[in-house]
Amino acid sequence: MNHPQSNIPPEFDTPVYRMAVAQFEEAAEKLHLEPNLRARLRVPQRSLVVSVPVRMDDGRVTVYQGFRVQHDTALGPTKGGTRYHPALTLGESAALAMWMTWKCALAGLPYGGAKGGVRCDPSKLSMDELQHLTRRYTAEILLMIGPEMDIPAPDVGTNPQIMAWVMDTYSMQKGYSIPGVVTGKPLSIGGSLGREEATGRGVVFTILEALNHLNIPAGGATAVVQGCGNVGSFAARILTEIGIRVIAISDSKGGVVNLNGLDCDRVLRYKDEHHTLKGFPEGEFITNGDLLELECTVLVPSALSEVITGENAGRLKCRLLAEGANGPTTPEADRILDSRGVFVIPDVLANAGGVIVSYFEWVQDLQQYFWTDDEIRRKLKEIITAAFQRVLEQSIRKKVGLRIAAQMEGINKIARAHRLRGLYP
Ligand code: NAD
Repeated sequence: MNHPQSNIPPEFDTPVYRMAVAQFEEAAEKLHLEPNLRARLRVPQRSLVVSVPVRMDDGRVTVYQGFRVQHDTALGPTKGGTRYHPALTLGESAALAMWMTWKCALAGLPYGGAKGGVRCDPSKLSMDELQHLTRRYTAEILLMIGPEMDIPAPDVGTNPQIMAWVMDTYSMQKGYSIPGVVTGKPLSIGGSLGREEATGRGVVFTILEALNHLNIPAGGATAVVQGCGNVGSFAARILTEIGIRVIAISDSKGGVVNLNGLDCDRVLRYKDEHHTLKGFPEGEFITNGDLLELECTVLVPSALSEVITGENAGRLKCRLLAEGANGPTTPEADRILDSRGVFVIPDVLANAGGVIVSYFEWVQDLQQYFWTDDEIRRKLKEIITAAFQRVLEQSIRKKVGLRIAAQMEGINKIARAHRLRGLYP
């Protein structure tokens, strides 16, 4: 039975939430999920909208809007990133929270999904303003977070320093240090080795599995990476390390291309110094639109959602699409890519490395016992490659694409927990 999308509550009704629900409905249909569970899982369990007043450097007060959405708590506390972006909405936070639920369940982590953040442009704030905004936002969502409740992490526009302020604000309120309230913290205050690079490293592990499955030797492969923040920069560096030629990379203003391969360290250093990729001497400047259409083995969108659409999907020339970003491909684009035989490693699988190592960080914080880099890499590889193989097997068995197969895996685990726990009261 198909549930009409008009069932979406107006609070969440945004293109990206519709996209998350459309994917959910497709997977739920294949699973023959009972209507009662569908109704519960289509909407988040808890959402909080907060106003975040910040005293700016010039003495004025600016009031920002902040959000925290917890999609499902059937498996345990919720987990998900904190986004600082000028276009963030409650609906987008809800979509991202839902994807986090499937992602955590798929990886076998004892979490539900969450997401949140503040609608702001962090690049226009001073360090003091950013700190005030973070501390006030944390104070406003304090009633919802905690190591046993909901554990934020970095996402677009946030970083380890911001996580340190979240951890400090929370700890000050409680009266003692509670590192397990956030992940993606700096190492010296309870962060984990390997967390910063974890999402990019996980993306590369899944690319290697896919190349192996498709019988494409990694040696001759080329990659194009959109975005050079946390996910894109580490994905590009690690791809280069393992011998895959990265021929293009971008930031929000455009990218740089060199068909002979880029020295990613040099590109990223240039970006740090000049705050743009324009003028990088060892490549040509290219728009983000053109970059997506470059001929390559692997395309790795690692910036924002809905960049591969019905409009441009027909012109993509990659063999493999590895979704570093969350939600980069619209359902219409998915259908086109499928008909063109592009192998898609969906976001909930490709970028799960971040939350997997976040889980390791949380476990280490709770135990106050820290692991080596080697242990972390080994365990990350083990979990993400096993998840890849389960999804691939499901996709072959059920004759569905990897996205729906991955969501089926996740939804199935959550549904099982709901059936056992029942409906309160
Ligand atoms: P980030 O803020 O570190 O980097 C974002 C990058 O995207 C920057 O290079 C920015 O210049 C670029 N960008 C912004 N707008 C753009 C546009 N319109 N076109 C092209 N590029 C643009 O963020 P991040 O943490 O690397 O996250 C990137 C994506 O990966 C997001 O979708 C996020 O949800 C997802 N993700 C992140 C993590 C994580 O651990 N950080 C984990 C899983 C998924």
